[in-house]
Amino acid sequence: MDHYAVFGHPIAHSQSPFIHQTFADQTGQLLTYRAILAPLDGFAETVQRFRAEGGMGANVTLPFKEQAFALCEELTPRARLAGAVNTLHWQADGKLVGDNTDGAGLVADLQQHGVSLTGLRILMLGAGGAVRGVLEPVLACQPAQLVIANRTASKATALAADFGHLGNVTGVGLDGIGSGFDLIINGTSASLSGDLPPLPEGCLVKEGITYDMAYGVHATPFQLWGERHGGRLNLAGLGMLVNQAAESFARWRGVRPEIEPVRAALLARLEAKQ
Ligand code: NDP
Repeated sequence: MDHYAVFGHPIAHSQSPFIHQTFADQTGQLLTYRAILAPLDGFAETVQRFRAEGGMGANVTLPFKEQAFALCEELTPRARLAGAVNTLHWQADGKLVGDNTDGAGLVADLQQHGVSLTGLRILMLGAGGAVRGVLEPVLACQPAQLVIANRTASKATALAADFGHLGNVTGVGLDGIGSGFDLIINGTSASLSGDLPPLPEGCLVKEGITYDMAYGVHATPFQLWGERHGGRLNLAGLGMLVNQAAESFARWRGVRPEIEPVRAALLARLEAKQ
């Protein structure tokens, strides 16, 4: 039996054990996957202990994604650009490799809903870890333009400078957003407190698309904003969560699970917990 885990602090809320066990059942893979609470000052030791006990790979969540990045001996290009790692695996030679699957999860979820990012004008709200993690896969789809808008404008301009070589990227404060975006992605944590960044009239085109990286059983404030402003598709991040997990699973096991039944099972589980 092969062993996997997710490390975080806190970790009790994590849906990753459920998602990966469901993937394993669906694909007939024999494995265990558990949630491990790493002490705030003991992430590296916890990872090493897990490896010594036979661990094959792991996910990493808040607040350890940057520490995981520093711990890895090899990084995928997208993890290097993200400056953060959410997926670990040990190679046959024992080397620890880090990947970041969050952006691939976002792009895959949009694609499963029929949305291609190529040629779109995209507004990205926020400039924290989640946004940094998705920028490379989003820009790899070659949107016409990507505007990063953040409450603290300097963080948005810094991100735009870091990723400018990958496409047409600019960074602004929330007062410099402009208008006419085909897709608005909310990568702020505002939804978690029932809040919404202030958005100017006309920033979403008629029948545009909105995507909130946050998710819950009920529509998020940003999804409701999208509905009020004529968005034809107003998605939340549950599909991103399942897709980033599928990307990790495929890297570890060489098998790609089917997304939709797992997304539906996860939603039912969250609803039952309400
Ligand atoms: P961070 O704490 O790193 O960044 C938070 C960002 O939100 C900052 O840009 C911050 O602006 C901005 N912000 C916070 N509150 C407000 C507000 N009231 N109005 C405007 N802007 C605000 O968080 P993360 O980047 O790690 O996470 C962001 C979101 O993405 C969370 O909702 C998280 O749940 C979600 N997420 C979803 C995933 C999924 O799989 N679906 C995966 C990863 C993240 P400032 O810089 O000015 O403080």
